[in-house]
Amino acid sequence: MNMRKNIVAGNWKMNTTVPEGVQLAKDVVAKAAEVPAEVGLIVATPFTHLCAVAGVVEGTRVELSAQNCADKEKGAYTGEVSVDMIKSTGAGWTILGHSERRQYYGETDAKLVEKVKLALAAGLKVILCVGENLEEREAGKHFDVVKAQTENVLFNFTAEDMKNIVVAYEPVWAIGTGKTATAEQAEEIHACIRKVLAGKFGAQVADDTTILYGGSCKPSNARELFAQPDIDGGLIGGAALKADDFIGIALSF
Ligand code: PEP
Repeated sequence: MNMRKNIVAGNWKMNTTVPEGVQLAKDVVAKAAEVPAEVGLIVATPFTHLCAVAGVVEGTRVELSAQNCADKEKGAYTGEVSVDMIKSTGAGWTILGHSERRQYYGETDAKLVEKVKLALAAGLKVILCVGENLEEREAGKHFDVVKAQTENVLFNFTAEDMKNIVVAYEPVWAIGTGKTATAEQAEEIHACIRKVLAGKFGAQVADDTTILYGGSCKPSNARELFAQPDIDGGLIGGAALKADDFIGIALSF
């Protein structure tokens, strides 16, 4: 019997002004009652929106996440946002290792280890993203890449830490491209991630870890993806910017 939770998390990326984000959060909260209570709902907003959106989701079932955090605790790091700052807004989560951060901002696995350590120490839960790019998939290296990313970061943590970590498999070629991984393609990688976790932390921890799929997930394809035994929900980009679509995806279990 596993204890893992189904979750749908919306990654707003660098979209919406603060008033637009507040409205989107209100729309999500208003529709959240349609979704079975056992499904976790998370909105990951830009840093600038966290305080205002925290006020909207407070006391509701919708949880709040950042999309990144600094790899330092505090001090002279102009423009960075620390885990304590994030926590103090009322957010309970942060996404880490999104492929856009890896690709455009030089986020390495080593940096991610530091970020995950700081996030957990501050009491934030983490959605750690892994995933291969198109070149790696076409070269047949997708299992190796995802396995390495998972090991490089998560093997620095304990079974206890894993209670506060969700993994998101996001094939880079499927992000924002309209190209979804087939349910089969996604499932085989999810099963591989779970096996890697089982090898390090044991079968129970692996079974209890939520593993999300991300990459052009929408209401029309979510059901097939979420029906796979190792897919426990989604990390949603574009479709999270419309409350109807986001909730439609959360209704797909
Ligand atoms: C994402 O960036 O996390 C994502 C899954 O984006 P999209 O749903 O737009 O492909």
